[in-house]
Amino acid sequence: MLGKMMYQPLLISSLMEHAARYHGDTVVISKEVDGQTSHSDWSTISNNSKRLAKALATLGLKPSERIATLAWNNRRHLEAWYAVSGSGMICHTINPRLFPEQLTFIINDAEDRALFFDVTFLPLIMAIKDQIKNVKHFICLGDRDDKVLAQLPETLFFDELLVEQDADFEWPELDETTASSLCYTSGTTGNPKGILYTHRSTVLHSMALCMPDALDLSARDVMLPVVPMFHVNAWGTPYAAALTGCSLVLPGPNLDGDSLVTLIDDYQVTAALGVPTIWQSLLAAANAKGSKLASMNRNVVGGAACPPSIIKTFKDDYNCDTLHAWGMTETSPIGTVNQIKSKHNALSSDEMEKLRQSQGRPPYGVKLRLMDTDNPLEPVAEDGESQGRLQIQGHWIINDYYTHKPDALTEDGWFDTGDIATIDGDGYLNIRDRSKDLIKSGGEWISSVELENIAVAHPQIKMAAAIAASHEKWGERPVLIVVKEPESNITEEQVLEYYDDKIASWQVPNKVVFVDNIQLNGAGKMVKKDLRDTHGDVLLHA
Ligand code: AMP
Repeated sequence: MLGKMMYQPLLISSLMEHAARYHGDTVVISKEVDGQTSHSDWSTISNNSKRLAKALATLGLKPSERIATLAWNNRRHLEAWYAVSGSGMICHTINPRLFPEQLTFIINDAEDRALFFDVTFLPLIMAIKDQIKNVKHFICLGDRDDKVLAQLPETLFFDELLVEQDADFEWPELDETTASSLCYTSGTTGNPKGILYTHRSTVLHSMALCMPDALDLSARDVMLPVVPMFHVNAWGTPYAAALTGCSLVLPGPNLDGDSLVTLIDDYQVTAALGVPTIWQSLLAAANAKGSKLASMNRNVVGGAACPPSIIKTFKDDYNCDTLHAWGMTETSPIGTVNQIKSKHNALSSDEMEKLRQSQGRPPYGVKLRLMDTDNPLEPVAEDGESQGRLQIQGHWIINDYYTHKPDALTEDGWFDTGDIATIDGDGYLNIRDRSKDLIKSGGEWISSVELENIAVAHPQIKMAAAIAASHEKWGERPVLIVVKEPESNITEEQVLEYYDDKIASWQVPNKVVFVDNIQLNGAGKMVKKDLRDTHGDVLLHA
């Protein structure tokens, strides 16, 4: 027997309808590419997205077509998102930091029909325009600009499109499994792969994100997503913001520590989200400016392992809980968030510090398991000690890649993350490494992440990457690639001494190589494959 309750599809447009109706006057701040700050609210954003939806229809754009964006976190970008997905089209956010060949590849792979862009990215578009023939409409996120027209005469302007439309519009009632947005992985090898989210997966993910055991987001918050909207949809935060009706501060292009401290203090931000390097520069800027970041009570860090020193400094010096979270483009991204349980209130400060370093535990809606690295059918104990390949299932986890290759799931229906992890009895996850970055020394695994976390806590080390180098006796041994802080004259011996008493002596790197710079990929992660190619043989010729 079926139950007798209303069925309403879980649609992205319903998030915006809610924000407009019950939180219409809640402020949305946006830093624009021309340096201006715009003050808007959910009611205006809702109206503008409806006006834009009408404009897109008059351009002949149809449901299911892919509409790309090359833009920072700003108000027009947000309005374009809701207009595109709300109309049944697919919002394809593109990472502008990708190489031009990768940009061309994904725009063609997605067969994007239109492209919204911030004027900053016009040179990027001009460089690839001849190779992206499927794009029929170029829409600049701003008002009419003759300098843009001089280069790209067919450009349409967001503000002009809006002027021609009113907000008298009803969002279509779509099937909740309709595709809503598309993100490509920022793979360091091979071509990027597309991940196609649904309205349903997005709404359920947003609900989970707001739960107290995740971001604990509510209408009392002012949220600053530093993580770009082109990185897994800013981790879903613009959707969660509308769902709760919280205030939003969109930081635009300037993501340096100084600019962010100013935004946090000026607009009394309570919660902010970003990758570890963002927090490193923010802490330095707050210290230099003498800001206490008084309004911010939590910040979420993910995308890469967060050095424990960052979590400790936020807590000790700023009374701010740093919530370590883990996820992937394939997982929407939230897989785990570090929130404590009531039994942890009794922990000593040292024990609490240790617990806070974990990537946290899964919210309702996702399940995790560990499988043996050598025998993929053999489960690994969740005892906080045993390591295995991390696999995941859930309402907002990938089922299939956009182009169907490669197969996304194991034969029994789990997504294999490629991460090596431990999980304890309470579900707390510790990511030990990417499977391809682990260092296997004489049959024992060494976590490159652990070696890096220790190194970057040294005040004279700016960046550190631990890689597996070939070794005649042990197969592989760790080598640490280090970028010093400016002015530092730290030696190899001093770096290695810093590991004393922090890890077992057999895990200490065999060698330190100082370099001027470590290349980051489009998502701000270290490209370790290149480092392995360059330095992987240093121990053989020693
Ligand atoms: P992406 O899909 O580009 O966001 O990359 C996802 C990968 O980033 C994961 O598979 C992890 O290897 C890594 N990652 C994400 N969050 C964390 C974290 N908190 N700690 C360690 N690694 C992480």
